[in-house]
Amino acid sequence: MGLRAKLIIAFGVLAIAGAALAYRMTRPPEIYVFAGVAGPDTPTIVPPPVDTPWRKYSGGGKSRLAILLTDEHAPWLGLAHGLKSIGVPFTITTDYAEAVTHRVVLVYPRISGLLPGEALKALAAVPRDGGTLIGVNVLGGGLEEVFGFASAQPSRPHFELRFDVKAAQRFGLVDPHEQVLSLGNRAKSAQAVVGSYGYLGAEQYALARYEDGQAAITERSIGAGKAYAVGIDLGFYMLQGYNNREESVGRSYDNGFEPSIDVLLRLLRSLYRAGEGDAVTLGTVPFDRALSVVLSHDIDYTRSLPNSVAYAEFEKSQGVRATYFMQTKYLRDFNDDVILRGDTAHYLRQLGEMGMEVGSHTVAHSRVFKYFPLGTGEERYPDYRPFVRDRDTAVGGTVLGEVRVSKFLIETIGGYAPVISFRPGELSNPFALPQVLEATGYRYSSSVTANSSLTHLPFQLDYNRENTAETPIYEFPVTIEDEELPPMGERLPQALDLAHKISRYGGTVVVLIHPDILGQKFHFEQGFVAALKPEAWFGTIGELGAWWAARDAATVDVANSGRDRAVTLTLPQRISGLGLSVPSGWTYRASDPADLKLAVAESGVLIAEAQGTVTLHFTIAQR
Ligand SMILES: [Zn+2]
Repeated sequence: MGLRAKLIIAFGVLAIAGAALAYRMTRPPEIYVFAGVAGPDTPTIVPPPVDTPWRKYSGGGKSRLAILLTDEHAPWLGLAHGLKSIGVPFTITTDYAEAVTHRVVLVYPRISGLLPGEALKALAAVPRDGGTLIGVNVLGGGLEEVFGFASAQPSRPHFELRFDVKAAQRFGLVDPHEQVLSLGNRAKSAQAVVGSYGYLGAEQYALARYEDGQAAITERSIGAGKAYAVGIDLGFYMLQGYNNREESVGRSYDNGFEPSIDVLLRLLRSLYRAGEGDAVTLGTVPFDRALSVVLSHDIDYTRSLPNSVAYAEFEKSQGVRATYFMQTKYLRDFNDDVILRGDTAHYLRQLGEMGMEVGSHTVAHSRVFKYFPLGTGEERYPDYRPFVRDRDTAVGGTVLGEVRVSKFLIETIGGYAPVISFRPGELSNPFALPQVLEATGYRYSSSVTANSSLTHLPFQLDYNRENTAETPIYEFPVTIEDEELPPMGERLPQALDLAHKISRYGGTVVVLIHPDILGQKFHFEQGFVAALKPEAWFGTIGELGAWWAARDAATVDVANSGRDRAVTLTLPQRISGLGLSVPSGWTYRASDPADLKLAVAESGVLIAEAQGTVTLHFTIAQR
């Protein structure tokens, strides 16, 4: 071929490419509109925050752990939500005289000389009289001797809290990440995330120390009584995890074991059980199985929708229901083609027909969703047109639009009503998400990772991810996902190892598998289900959410009379498979109502189904 011919061909190729590019740049974004579908019609109004009053958690009987709140402005909400998640019954009071009528008293957020002299005197008497006194940030007030230290030192930042060998054994802390808790990441910030006090002169009483050897948690026995001093603000620390503000305290982002909050909660539960003879605590897994497992799938790619049906068929064959988070993508953009259209909608409906839950995975799936404006609450399909330009740019999207329009489409096109679970694309998490989910009628969120939440238990979300106002939305953080390397199919042993660590204290494992392919991911799911089915409870975010919310609303009180122990449960919402742990030596005798269905085990009872007020009678062993 001559040079002239080559040039002509090259020019022709260039011209075609140029024309194609020009066409692509100038034509309007492709949009798919379902004929006759428009909505939602009702505007969303996001109400302003209402601070949760501590009195909401007051009252109840003497068997509860008493929190003596010494500063109403403290982040006590984190501590309250933490104790609820681990199942310890508690009451909050600002009255020291009331607090000391309980056998286990936790003083929060501090004990200092600012407390009245008679309050300090009454607290000092708790361990002397055989009770358990847990002081958070014990700064003085003359109680140093009670706790067994010389002085409390607000010192240089601490990044680790290490349990000593004996304490780790006693509290069942066998994993290195249980024995050493993370308080911050020195490599990322010279500041620790949580302030800490070291207790000096308490070497012989230390259960846990900071990395510099200063005592972080101390225990002193006074006759039968116990005095514990804790050097970090437990409520503040827990809220760092729950509000997703932990600034890299977590030692991994996902696929890892990060139980820092759980260890502190297990410690409190253990001290409560040891100090309160009538301690009855709530189980953390439906039907008292070893762990809760939720299989979840994000449909955010065109091929994923038909593939989902294959995953659902396998799950159905195993008697397992999974949650599918559907991106209701009706515009073609930087990310992908239109996903939800007339000829693909039947896949979405099929998932429901197979018993699966479908939640929302937004409309636009933008990585910068967390920076979207709140919106008006009047965003409607098909006029709402969020457009992703590139990885870091999107136009026309709002937080309310993403949340309410996707819900509307899944309910209208998919035939699901109501959609109650939500997960954002790339776990991009706007501060307003909790209150927006509440205002738009969702109930459950799976928007963060367990490792960045510092917990493997579900928890309640707070307004604007701040410290003072709770919302009724519960979070089920992602534990194991498929984007890290090596490919998921090669990580089954590690995933099962992680699940077993979490099962030792009844945690939750949420697995995220994108159904963009079958192959190795599908094999992972098969192996995971086969290995865990004998011990785990499996269900959807919606099912676990309903169980968790009902359990969270429960209260437990114990009245004693001679050798009789009457355990009164109030269950405002119907719940199935709620376990209760009772002290050793208790024998179940009877229930009221008498026809209550339950199973009796050595460590407690399992209530098959109940609602309202239920009383269980036990006889305690002769001493
Ligand atoms: Zn996604």
